[in-house]
Amino acid sequence: MNCNIAVIKGDGIGPEVVSEAMKVLDAVGVKYGHTFNYEQLLMGGCSIDVHGVPLTDEAVARAKAADAVLLGSIGGNTSTSPWYKLPPEKRPEAGLLKIRKELGLFANLRPAFLYNELKGACPLKEEIADKGFDMMIMRELTGGLYFGARETKELDGVLTAVDTLTYNENEIRRIAIKGFDIAMKRRKKVTSVDKANVLDSSRLWRKIVEEVAKDYPEVTYEHMLVDNCAMQLVKDPAQFDVVLTENMFGDILSDEASMITGSIGMLASASLNETKFGMYEPSGGSAPDIAGQNKANPIATILSAAMMLRYTFDMDKEADAIEAAVQQVLVENYRTCDIVSEGTELVSCSQMGDLIAARV
Ligand code: NAD
Repeated sequence: MNCNIAVIKGDGIGPEVVSEAMKVLDAVGVKYGHTFNYEQLLMGGCSIDVHGVPLTDEAVARAKAADAVLLGSIGGNTSTSPWYKLPPEKRPEAGLLKIRKELGLFANLRPAFLYNELKGACPLKEEIADKGFDMMIMRELTGGLYFGARETKELDGVLTAVDTLTYNENEIRRIAIKGFDIAMKRRKKVTSVDKANVLDSSRLWRKIVEEVAKDYPEVTYEHMLVDNCAMQLVKDPAQFDVVLTENMFGDILSDEASMITGSIGMLASASLNETKFGMYEPSGGSAPDIAGQNKANPIATILSAAMMLRYTFDMDKEADAIEAAVQQVLVENYRTCDIVSEGTELVSCSQMGDLIAARV
């Protein structure tokens, strides 16, 4: 297969970790007979330095023309970088918001997986960590409270702020369909999370999820209130497969789920639109404190590339091969600085990429 990938390395550790992901993709290409064509685009601080804006319209058009986008991370040190003296719409993060909007990326996927070898970093009790967990938090990304009308005004001399939480049935249906589709590629269970005991938007959410579920008889599904889900994530995370939820609940629950895995350098993510198109990136930021030192953990980006193979290109066995290679280097006790512990071997970012590529 011939795959056209827009590559946005970005700032900080972005170029280092994305180069390792490309190395691993190329190893997949050789083994399975695919060609990955890369077009490199600028976004974030590096684009500000060259073009004066964090993302040009031309870069957006080129990203749209690709099959998928592989992104590193953008931004610099928010206290010292000159990029943060610019007005908000000119700062690096404005590029990220613009590309998400332009590409219509409404579904955000964040896997939370506990590697046996990294259980020591899990902050949960040993008997809970011992059971392990492997879930996908699926968050609606372009609707709900963060996109509704808001204002702050004085009412009878009292300052009053209003935020609006709106969802229509189409927005709910398209994310629910994605959620059930993804469950079909996993353990076929969906937990839909809402606050239907209080919110109208959640009651509509529940109704539409039930309608969509009828088209997926192989998938078991349940509804869970968000407050209960927050508790269950730390009490019994092994029960979850796909956790399907709206924007704000997903924002909070996905951070909680990442926290219990114990390492930001291991966490992949994907944002999808209605087609197979997606943007794939590590969950962490540009880590300016370690940038340029060949120290960053490239695994989150490498696993994001595996998600790209699985969800955009339908290459399940190739994605499995990358995930197995990552598991293998951990079993062999290789670690980057963020996950190193006694009895394991410290390797650099590029060495980690070499090790994984060699095991694909
Ligand atoms: P960060 O995720 O960049 O770093 C937090 C800590 O985690 C740091 O100590 C860093 O060294 C470490 N870390 C992160 N990724 C790592 C990796 N792959 N390997 C090893 N260690 C890793 O968060 P921050 O310091 O709050 O933000 C730094 C910059 O990144 C800011 O400009 C912020 O706006 C930006 N940011 C960008 C994105 C994105 O591009 N999607 C996301 C979050 C933050």
